[in-house]
Amino acid sequence: MIPFDDAVRIMIERVHALDATRVPLAEALGCVLADDVASDVDMPPFDKSAMDGFAVVAADLAEVPRSLRVVEDIPAGSVPTCVVKPGECARIMTGAPVPEGADAVVMVEDTSPGSTSDLVRFNKPVVSGRNVCVRAEDVAVGDIVLHAGHEVRPPEVAVLAACGCSQVSVIRKPSVAVLSTGNEVVPIHRTPDAGQIRDANSHYVVARLGRMGIAVTALGIAADEPAALKAALAEGMEHDVLAVSGGVSMGDYDLVPGLLKELGAELFFEKVAMQPGKPTVFGRCGRTAVFGLPGNPVSVLTAGELFLVPAVRKMMGFQRLHTPRRTATLTARVKHRTGRIAHVPGIVAETEDGWTVQPLTYHGSAHMHALRAANCLIVLPADVAVVDAPAAVEIVELRV
Ligand code: AMP
Ligand code: MG
Repeated sequence: MIPFDDAVRIMIERVHALDATRVPLAEALGCVLADDVASDVDMPPFDKSAMDGFAVVAADLAEVPRSLRVVEDIPAGSVPTCVVKPGECARIMTGAPVPEGADAVVMVEDTSPGSTSDLVRFNKPVVSGRNVCVRAEDVAVGDIVLHAGHEVRPPEVAVLAACGCSQVSVIRKPSVAVLSTGNEVVPIHRTPDAGQIRDANSHYVVARLGRMGIAVTALGIAADEPAALKAALAEGMEHDVLAVSGGVSMGDYDLVPGLLKELGAELFFEKVAMQPGKPTVFGRCGRTAVFGLPGNPVSVLTAGELFLVPAVRKMMGFQRLHTPRRTATLTARVKHRTGRIAHVPGIVAETEDGWTVQPLTYHGSAHMHALRAANCLIVLPADVAVVDAPAAVEIVELRV
């Protein structure tokens, strides 16, 4: 059994960012950029009106009220044909190019109709440059707008679109397979017979990694029977990541670690000093990172969040690998058996007194219903048996 921190370090050292690939912009969301992105246009691409109103020579309105003659109408998308001279103005819409000669735009609300139909009356003075977005004031042609390593979120999608990046070079997402094991485990559409339970774990992994934009391949359920299980594991090893649930403990039917080794995997640890999640297994076989998660659903959530998720994030090229943590004030006493780091489901909340965390009553790693309300895991160090409230504790946020 190795300490939890050592296990995390060993695991992180042994997974690596994957190679770059070009994907359509719509598929880049949630990925990390593999290359710098330069703009192929100025933004804005021309001196642009920020308002619906009138393009004017600002000096004309040193004394107001004053009426100016409208020489042109410039809707967005059109190109001005006239030069605005002193005494003149052009009706202009938001996003349209400001005509030559004009140096400010007066919004329509600050004007009124003139005495004849070609005149507009200006009631307020304006300073030069008002309501004009100058060409390239945001970005010039060739400027790097996003650097390699940057995560593509919805705002980055907008920037990439504006730069004409219909294809984007990103670190590819790992292909992930999930396999549930156990003679007692049945698919969710079946009503369990005596001694059976439904497969919760593979659906959890699909959902959790789905949030990271990964379409997990579900390999179904393998019985605790060497030939079938080995074939299913071998199929899983064709992916970048294989997550197996169940079959990693000390029971007679816990065949997964042995079969992984038979298939050529090198296992770096098979037991971690953590509760829940002690039989967590991590290894590699060629390009495949293999995670054996203990079958109890709370163990899958805990070991999944603390091992599988950071590994996948590292493969995707993220700098921040781990689920965010914070310190919160415990509202009720928690205790556990010393010797292993514990992760207890809790409810973290921001209150007038700062961040507080309430431990959830839960009676062991099979108790997945305790997780319905949980939005964090409370970290109890291996050498601490009891933490009395109020005390500052570390929590792992599950709200991401
Ligand atoms: P194991 O790690 O195989 O010893 O399983 C530990 C416990 O988790 C047993 O009570 C199993 O029935 C349960 N379990 C195993 N796999 C699943 C699964 N896919 N969904 C829900 N519970 C499971
Ligand atoms: Mg089992």
